[in-house]
Amino acid sequence: MLQQGIAILGATGSIGQSTLDVVSQHPDRFRVVALTAFRQIDLLTAQCAQFKPDFAVIADESLAGALTEKLHKVSPDTVVLSGVTGLEQVATDPKVDQVMAAIVGAAGLQPTLAAVRAGKRILLANKESLVMAGALFMQEVQQSGAVLLPIDSEHNAIYQCLPQHAPLGVMPAGVEKILLTGSGGPFRDRPLDQMDCVTPEEAVAHPNWSMGKKISVDSATMMNKGLELIEACWLFGVSPEQIQVVLHPESMIHSMVQYNDGSVLAQMGNPDMRTPISYAMGWPERIGSGVGHLDLFEVAQFNFEPPDLQRYPCLRLASDAMQTGGDAPMVLNAANEVAVEAFLEKRIGFTEIAAVVERALEYWAVESVDNLLQLQTKDQQVRQYSEELIKEMRWARA
Ligand code: NAD
Ligand code: MG
Repeated sequence: MLQQGIAILGATGSIGQSTLDVVSQHPDRFRVVALTAFRQIDLLTAQCAQFKPDFAVIADESLAGALTEKLHKVSPDTVVLSGVTGLEQVATDPKVDQVMAAIVGAAGLQPTLAAVRAGKRILLANKESLVMAGALFMQEVQQSGAVLLPIDSEHNAIYQCLPQHAPLGVMPAGVEKILLTGSGGPFRDRPLDQMDCVTPEEAVAHPNWSMGKKISVDSATMMNKGLELIEACWLFGVSPEQIQVVLHPESMIHSMVQYNDGSVLAQMGNPDMRTPISYAMGWPERIGSGVGHLDLFEVAQFNFEPPDLQRYPCLRLASDAMQTGGDAPMVLNAANEVAVEAFLEKRIGFTEIAAVVERALEYWAVESVDNLLQLQTKDQQVRQYSEELIKEMRWARA
């Protein structure tokens, strides 16, 4: 069997580690060409010792020396690279067939786009890339002929429920609606007047999924579902009105597609990211993932309800931003990233996350997105503005 070379951007994260787990189950199929991390050199070193990649990239350049020293003992043939240029280099390396895009946040955009331009198979976990630069991103996919496969469990489910080999970016004939499911996070039943005392520890403890901190907070505010709604619009060529968010607390149905003949197709399974990851890695074949089968008798019951937009203002803000278009989703994303970090550092309260995002969206005039540089410049400005807002809020509270 011809081995597929894989580069894992964000190897030390939750998705990165699940990807390596799938790789280790199929040593004949996959060869790790590159692993990357932001700052976690100890974990990256341990991963390199096991998988012996050609390249290890540390995004924080100041740690390149320390990583080289550590790798010298356990994986001497691994070449150390650093910074965004290192990430771009491995994302486009000729030995790489597949790129797992699993860096969290806006930092994932540039290396993922580089992989798209190089025509790789892109396993897209980094939803923020599409939220920030959907039009640009999809245009580059069309031009380069890159194969784009969604990793986000909902989008992977939708992809599986669409007609086989339907091109991405256009809604296939016969599809009426996308039913995007979400658990509602840990605070679905918490009284609304107690939402502002939610702590970071409570927010990162998701009831069904084990994930990185940022996406866990996004799941609690349901900004994650909002970002996913935007992601789905770009991936499947639909508008926000063609997407119905459905709360489904059991997280067993990962999303559904409604057709014009009355059929609704759903993809189900245990909530474990190794299913969508292995689906995309093996596509168009099915390969084992290590995930146990779904025991319907044990689940016994599926529940569904519409989301309460008063409880989840972030969901409304995201849907409105997509409706507005231009760079509004980028503003939403930048303000949210800053606000989530401030919440995790206990600088603002839980309900202030939505407040920061709303004020940023009100402040910034909507512009069309013409190129990456323009987008990145404004992204930085929105971040600075959001930090100012947070300082102001703290000052007002003191
Ligand atoms: P995580 O926080 O666990 O891992 C993030 C990875 O990105 C780490 O390897 C980290 O070192 C790297 N990283 C962070 N900042 C960086 C920077 N500035 N430059 C370069 N690398 C950087 O996150 P995660 O939960 O694995 O999520 C990764 C992406 O996948 C996110 O976009 C998330 O929305 C998406 N996603 C995750 C899940 C999940 O179950 N965890 C599900 C669906 C989608
Ligand atoms: Mg998801």
